[in-house]
Amino acid sequence: MLLTDTHTHLYYETDNEKRAALMQRCKQNDIGRLFLPNVDVSSAAQVFELATEYPAICYPMLGLHPCSVKADWENVLETIWNTQQDRKIYAIGEIGIDLYWDKTTLPEQVLAFKAQIKKAKELKLPIVIHCREAFNEVFDVLEEEGGEDLRGILHCFTGSYEQALNAIDLGFYLGIGGVVTYKNGGLDKFLNEIDLQHIVLETDSPYLSPVPYRGKPNESSYLIYIAEKVAELYQLNVETVATITTENSKKVFGI
Ligand SMILES: [Zn+2]
Repeated sequence: MLLTDTHTHLYYETDNEKRAALMQRCKQNDIGRLFLPNVDVSSAAQVFELATEYPAICYPMLGLHPCSVKADWENVLETIWNTQQDRKIYAIGEIGIDLYWDKTTLPEQVLAFKAQIKKAKELKLPIVIHCREAFNEVFDVLEEEGGEDLRGILHCFTGSYEQALNAIDLGFYLGIGGVVTYKNGGLDKFLNEIDLQHIVLETDSPYLSPVPYRGKPNESSYLIYIAEKVAELYQLNVETVATITTENSKKVFGI
């Protein structure tokens, strides 16, 4: 079985021994592919460091998180692109709009989001979207900028059935994480009405731990609990869920 964590910030663990243990637990739980989004300049360096250390498992992405967008976003973005040097990236992410933490930066968030979509199109890369309390704003941008040449993942999807269909219509996969295991998460009510071919799995570690670790720090090895819950909802075995969602991740990331 091969599971793919399409969104993990595992690089936040900087202690070498603990990091090796995290990787070992991934291996034990059949999580063999980790896609790493940065959020700002310093985390870009951490992404590349981890990907250099574990090149067979870790796949870097690059972007500016909406919560890190400030007045100087253009300069910051330039610095982030420069961290890439000659290293390969597999997506632009994580990018998007977040109106939960700060509504005042919405105009800048939209501009930074659009600039990064442009970059993704130039590089023919998918985008990984962070969307919090900003569905309408994100969809407005996607409807304006989207099309055949834009694909990606709506990461940490926690929206409604209608919003799920909307995202799929625009050519996006839904990133399903720990929330699917929560009693009042809402996703479990309708997820099995969405064809599994539109779904990828993620932990978003160290955030949003699935049950039975809810409230504790998350790690990529816990992806197994998310896969098991998805298998239960679709009445499939976990191996089938792993095969289909890993296949989906290969389609979106091209690897
Ligand atoms: Zn994230």
